[in-house]
Amino acid sequence: MNAQRTILTDLRIWDGDTTLDADTLILNGPAIEAVCSGTALSPAEAGTARSLAGTTALPGLMDAHVHMVLDPNRSSPPAAGETGDPAAMRERAAMMVTAGITTARDLGGGGWLEIELRNAIARGEAPGPRLLCAGQPVTCLQGHCHFWGGEAADVSAAKAVIDRQIAHDVDLIKIMATGGRFTRGSKPLAPQFETRALRAMVDHARVHGLAVAAHCHGTPGIDAAVRAGVHSIEHCSWVGEEGWASDYQEAVVMRMLEQGTWVSPTINAGWRRMLKGATPTISRMRAALVNMRSHGVPLMASTDAGIPGVFHHQLPEALAVFAEVAAMSAEEVLRSATSEAARGLGLERHTGRLRPGFDADVLIVAGDPVTDLTVLTQPVAVWARGRCVREG
Ligand SMILES: [Zn+2]
Repeated sequence: MNAQRTILTDLRIWDGDTTLDADTLILNGPAIEAVCSGTALSPAEAGTARSLAGTTALPGLMDAHVHMVLDPNRSSPPAAGETGDPAAMRERAAMMVTAGITTARDLGGGGWLEIELRNAIARGEAPGPRLLCAGQPVTCLQGHCHFWGGEAADVSAAKAVIDRQIAHDVDLIKIMATGGRFTRGSKPLAPQFETRALRAMVDHARVHGLAVAAHCHGTPGIDAAVRAGVHSIEHCSWVGEEGWASDYQEAVVMRMLEQGTWVSPTINAGWRRMLKGATPTISRMRAALVNMRSHGVPLMASTDAGIPGVFHHQLPEALAVFAEVAAMSAEEVLRSATSEAARGLGLERHTGRLRPGFDADVLIVAGDPVTDLTVLTQPVAVWARGRCVREG
């Protein structure tokens, strides 16, 4: 018997899309070997199988927007040139993966420490999620998150910023297409670049095989980024003159569909406060999300972890809030954090589903998340690329 083989049985199995008839999962080294019925096990296999009655196995969760370098306990943005704390970043990664987050996309830092963390995790030297990293976001002079060093006055400077990220071995490029709240003097409604400039950046990244994620709050910036052909719109807040979610535009959504643009709405657990207040903003945001989904715009679950008060390991908690904000079923939300997220991140041939040959990224929770998303906060066991990082 292969010592690296783990047989889990008596499970409910939600495979990233639907609940299966199978009740047994066999993990072998870094991969899933089989998803089958317990009756198919040999007596020897059955003897070594671990019974997990009452639990559900699902693919490890994915957070499509985090900042490993940011300390959520801190309310002020980093100073220019401040790189971050590698030990704290390792701790965040460990907390994420033991909470069941086996993949995360890092959308910005200043000193490429998240790339070192990504590599250490991939080498098995540190527990953590598989990371995809963007490095320094491209921004305008004194623009959103300029303190991370990605300022560009014009297209050629922006290309130089992109080249610098490529030299640091990033997985994608992040562009700040509008201002943001986190940066003093920056306005969420204001676009930071012209469509033509954004398109030149997207094309430059594409030549190097890299997709672009664009931070967009204001509708003019969303429109420009979609026209420029970015892969994903981050936040997608539809900010207009009347505030958050006040300028939803169907024509822009139609363009998203033509371009195949993804949306990563960064809805974190803290949005619960807005839900309780039943603010006009939350109703407008819900209407926008419902409309986008009804047209078929694909969504990736994300939290923007690292910004003040948003902790890196809280995606499982945020998903129930996401369901409520976007009026989505539990299963739709689970897909947006597993199989759909994998597609949005270009990982759909490796992870996001419980399927033979796929990476063994597995979360086991007590209860059934398809009927109650809150059980996601009760992980029983977690495997990340075959490494057991939690065992209840
Ligand atoms: Zn962010």
